Amino acid sequence: LREAYDRLKSQVERRIAVEDKLRYDATHDTLTGLPNRNYILLQLEDCVKRHQRNEEYHFAVLFMDIDNFKMINDSLGHQVGDDLLIEVGHRLTATLRSLDTVVRAGSDITARLGGDEFIVLLDGLKNITDAAVVADRLQEQIAEPFIIGDHRLATTLSIGIAVDQEGRFSAEELIRDADTAMYRAKSLGKDRYAIFDHEMHEEVAQRMKIENELRHAIDQNQFELVYQPIIELTSSEICGFEALLRWTLSDGSLISPDKFIPIAEETGTIVSIGRWILENACRQIKQWNDQIKDRAPLFISVNLSKRQVVEHTLPQDIEQILEQTGVTGDQLKLEITESLIMEQPEAIVDALFKIKLLGIELYMDDFGTGHSSLSCLHGFPIDVLKIDQSFIANMDENRDFASVVHAIIMLAQNIGVRVTAEGIENHDQLTQLMAMDCDYGQGFLFAKPLPAMKAWDLIQSQGEWRLSA
Ligand code: C2E
Ligand code: CA
Ligand code: CA
Repeated sequence: LREAYDRLKSQVERRIAVEDKLRYDATHDTLTGLPNRNYILLQLEDCVKRHQRNEEYHFAVLFMDIDNFKMINDSLGHQVGDDLLIEVGHRLTATLRSLDTVVRAGSDITARLGGDEFIVLLDGLKNITDAAVVADRLQEQIAEPFIIGDHRLATTLSIGIAVDQEGRFSAEELIRDADTAMYRAKSLGKDRYAIFDHEMHEEVAQRMKIENELRHAIDQNQFELVYQPIIELTSSEICGFEALLRWTLSDGSLISPDKFIPIAEETGTIVSIGRWILENACRQIKQWNDQIKDRAPLFISVNLSKRQVVEHTLPQDIEQILEQTGVTGDQLKLEITESLIMEQPEAIVDALFKIKLLGIELYMDDFGTGHSSLSCLHGFPIDVLKIDQSFIANMDENRDFASVVHAIIMLAQNIGVRVTAEGIENHDQLTQLMAMDCDYGQGFLFAKPLPAMKAWDLIQSQGEWRLSA
């Protein structure tokens, strides 16, 4: 009997051990051994309930993302990446433990959501603002370099904070809001925290609406291109147009491209939208050039977004569009922003050279905003610089801006690059720019971006239309 009892007992014990292990595995991250998403969700639900019973009880969710993890992982290998994640987990836990007395946090939990994303649940905060104190401390600690093998790694954290105040009652929602706030922290320049607030909520709702509608915008004919003339300053004649995208939502409201293009970038819809823009802009310039007589053909300048340029098929796609629409390479110009060139030089330089082989000139847009110097342009097949409108807007009031503009023009001339000034709004600016030998001008002084019909009227009135400057 005794033997049978022992056997049974050890069987039961084994079973319990297996069940424990299964339960543990389901709630823990295998790499770091930290609790995982499932675990944190269960704990969060408890916190929400406790807060509902007792308003004095506070908690906060900190959503964290390592700012340069992908770079470290890609350049030093997954082993180093994994080791770093483990160390970050240790350091977060240790920091929280050391903070116990500062914020009287109950049983704080550090969890890993996957990738380089961690969550800290601050359970039982004395004061809700203490969440920011903790975020500060975590950031301080993570900013201390990590020694992984032979590597000394400097990292920073972006943190999004969601607290119990906003009447949110689901754990999923809290994590999502903390995630949203984390993205805000990133977009504000990383290595900082942001607290989720009502405004962000509105933004999230607006953003979801935009994302949704963007997917159908082409099919629903909601896009239109408008055209802003580019003037050759020596002859004061129109030499081409910049195509600019306009989007009218189904409720009739207009959204500025500054707002929806970044979203189209992130969701990837920009690839098909970009193609639509190129096709339509080329078709338009072909139609105009077929109709105009007694003058040189006009060009169309099209903005390319980052995602489009890193797409491998871009040069091929452009070649195909030129063929289909019968536009020659010299009638198409492509604008890429200065910041794009600075961020991803290796990734795009190859595509740029292929595009140049089609006879297309490249314009560097928003020059002066991306902290590059003209010497960085070396090795880039740029033909024209577009000086950002912020410089032009200030040059009539502030001599410093005027001298910067002058310096850019002279340096550009030295390296054989032409210059367009954007955002010319008055004669004073124009006169100065002409005195500096600026090649081209664009801005409300000449014309606002115009619908195709109006732009055509402008082309035809060219004879009478001369600048009085
Ligand atoms: P951008 O490429 O720098 O375009 C110039 C912007 O300056 C346009 O704004 C234009 O309307 C505005 N502008 C022109 N002259 C003046 C002026 O004298 N004064 C002032 N204050 N503004 C002037 P828009 O059309 O709202 O476009 C904003 C940005 O959105 C563009 O900046 C560009 O980055 C992006 N975008 C617009 N259309 C497209 C497109 O088809 N594709 C891509 N990828 N981006 C586009
Ligand atoms: Ca542009
Ligand atoms: Ca620009």
